[in-house]
Amino acid sequence: MSAAPKPRLVMKFGGTSVSGVERIRTVARLVKRQVELGYDVAVVVSAMSGETNKLVAFTREMSPLHDAREYDAIASTGENVTAGLTAVALDAIGVPARSWAGWQVPIKTDGVHGSASIVEIGVEGIVERFAQGIVAVIAGFQGISPEGRITTLGRGGSDTSAVALAAALGAERCDIYTDVDGVYTTDPRIVDKARKLDKISYEEMLEMASLGAKVLQTRSVEVAMIHKVRTQVLSSFDESSGETLPGTLVCDEDEIMEKRLVTGVAYSRDEAKITLVKVPDRPGVAAAIFSPLADAGINVDMIVQNVSDDGKTTDMTFTTGKADFDRAIKVLTDNAPSIGQERLSTDQNVVKVSVIGVGMRTHAGVAQTMFKTLAEKGINIQVISTSEIKVSVLIAAEYTELAVRALHTAYGLDAA
Ligand code: ASP
Ligand code: MG
Repeated sequence: MSAAPKPRLVMKFGGTSVSGVERIRTVARLVKRQVELGYDVAVVVSAMSGETNKLVAFTREMSPLHDAREYDAIASTGENVTAGLTAVALDAIGVPARSWAGWQVPIKTDGVHGSASIVEIGVEGIVERFAQGIVAVIAGFQGISPEGRITTLGRGGSDTSAVALAAALGAERCDIYTDVDGVYTTDPRIVDKARKLDKISYEEMLEMASLGAKVLQTRSVEVAMIHKVRTQVLSSFDESSGETLPGTLVCDEDEIMEKRLVTGVAYSRDEAKITLVKVPDRPGVAAAIFSPLADAGINVDMIVQNVSDDGKTTDMTFTTGKADFDRAIKVLTDNAPSIGQERLSTDQNVVKVSVIGVGMRTHAGVAQTMFKTLAEKGINIQVISTSEIKVSVLIAAEYTELAVRALHTAYGLDAA
């Protein structure tokens, strides 16, 4: 007689959660509890905190122009160590376990070294071990390319390994253990009245992650959203974690009963503003500016075109990430003959502040509240952009804290 299949759980532990022998022993105890609660568990681990940085630094020091395939061969190794150690720690407390490197699973990816995407995961081997009562410990962040080379999934990629594995295993949930106890309405380091959210929708989390909240890798949220993987963020530093749902659950909008207009306030300092002063005001000028930027792989975020006061020329302003700034300037300078700007004016001392919430789809007035709140604080808005569930403004960096705190209060998010 075969036993009924057990529910499956993926538990992911980030770098600070596996940063040494004692921390890994704690991880093993947290896993053991879930095994005792009746789950088949797959554990995904990051490298010890700081380890990947060290490996990347070695690689760059050896040669700035290194082969991307070797970067991956090197950068992926930190996770091999923690996967093995975690399996040993589990065995030591009576929980049978074995470790897998990404290629052994196999976690098949495309060939984009350094930021590969997962294409397919073969879970048969893991499921076979589950049937024998064995916990699977998988090295996060890594996979295997079609050419059979080791790949990595981009910094923070273990989150994506975990969520993709949960999707492939049909797991009940993917629990992401980290050093904070959940997702907050805003950054608790700058707003002491920030509140932990019980639940947040995939879409809101995607905006929060891409707008600067660093708890989850953006791509992992995309994968969770596409495959509807219920993903919980919780702390490995609280050993009572994991009994109920003590963290923040990232889930479908329908699962969230509490209705709110704005769910969170995010900010990103990784912004640079570029203005093309006096470009000809004629059809084709936007294409002349943004096509060469796109061809150079430069991501442009907010865009505004001013009204022309002389009917002949206008100013065009856009933002990009700080890392792309120098290249963007070069592209615009090289293309000046075809664009026709008089000059460029730039500012890297800016921050993008965003309010996010699915409630905006059905309620008006969210943007007004934002503009009014900032006006009352005397903060000048330089650029505005909106989407269905967010409003973002670009302001001077020195007002970051002031703006985020005032908005948090204005939308009723402050903790009591
Ligand atoms: N160890 C990798 C990094 O530091 C992957 C991860 O931790 O998610 O980026
Ligand atoms: Mg991380």
